[in-house]
Amino acid sequence: MTDNSTPNRTELTELGEFGLIDHLTAGLKPFNSSTLKGVGDDAAVIDNGEYVTLVSKDLLVEGVHFDLTYTPLRHLGYKAVVVNISDIVAMNGTATQLLVGISVSNRFSVEALDELYAGIRMACEKYKVDLVGGDTTSSVSGLFISVTVIGRAKKEEVTYRSTAKENDLICVSGDLGGAYMGLLLLEREKQVFKANPQMQPELDGNDYILERQLKPEARVDVLEKLREAGVKPTAMIDISDGLASEILHITKDSGLGCRIYENKIPIDFVTADVAAEFQLDPTTAAMNGGEDYELLFTVDVNDFEKVRELKGIHIIGHMLEKAEGEYLISNGGSLYPIEAQGFNHMREE
Ligand code: ADP
Ligand code: MG
Repeated sequence: MTDNSTPNRTELTELGEFGLIDHLTAGLKPFNSSTLKGVGDDAAVIDNGEYVTLVSKDLLVEGVHFDLTYTPLRHLGYKAVVVNISDIVAMNGTATQLLVGISVSNRFSVEALDELYAGIRMACEKYKVDLVGGDTTSSVSGLFISVTVIGRAKKEEVTYRSTAKENDLICVSGDLGGAYMGLLLLEREKQVFKANPQMQPELDGNDYILERQLKPEARVDVLEKLREAGVKPTAMIDISDGLASEILHITKDSGLGCRIYENKIPIDFVTADVAAEFQLDPTTAAMNGGEDYELLFTVDVNDFEKVRELKGIHIIGHMLEKAEGEYLISNGGSLYPIEAQGFNHMREE
């Protein structure tokens, strides 16, 4: 007989995603001295002599991370690879191999999976990463994609989340909030289509943000640019959950505080236009939207002149001692505490 009563049941929503990870991995100590960094960064870091091996994994679930009514399978395959490579890039490394696990229901045909793999292969080709294995199983319903990426970096070049210093400048690549506005647009057209299948989607002129959502890229080019300029970031993370959540990872792990200036946050005009259409503050899209896969990093204040010259890199704030807290300075000059909302799938709306 099993006792089904659960007197000590704790709901997942009480912990949230990061709380749950902390809970499940609390007190883990490595048995192998080669494990230089375990849980807690964009990728694990494994000692390999002069070089380190970097490993990261992401799991994508239909209905949670993607909606096939508006996501072409080819784009999904491409994005599944890119978001993993982005985690290796965020460690200042180069992705080299990939393993892909899929779990599929009989709703999918061979042709559909060919499309998924066309996207996966396209990303492998673009980033020169080798698909070297994986696993395939059936699922009761829906599609699951689990990608593991392996990469490498010179040991002294690895960039962690925890190594920012007081007074470092906070920088971000590209522009933010676009992927989230693209998502809102696709969701809106889906609702319109559901209500009236005769309606054609109105997506013209919004290609930029749709591409940000459906076909993101990993910013390998930014690492090259920084290397050429002789700038080594002191800490780095990729923006998968929104600027707020990511800067809090850097401040928390580095034991510091920060200031970010709203008027310095890079936002594309299409993002701003569509945000206005949705009566949404574009800063909110940048802070809490997510999926932009840009790089957020800190640099030594002495690198200011070098970084200022770099196109597509924006200095948006600076690090302070922990007691100063983490604040956004609004266009009007008011201080707002930075709070992580992110895409916390385990929190109730
Ligand atoms: P990212 O957003 O960069 O993909 P995550 O927020 O998913 O990173 O994960 C944060 C850290 O927690 C990473 O080091 C990841 O490997 C680790 N992690 C996530 N889920 C688990 C789990 N179920 N068990 C062990 N480690 C996990
Ligand atoms: Mg990451």
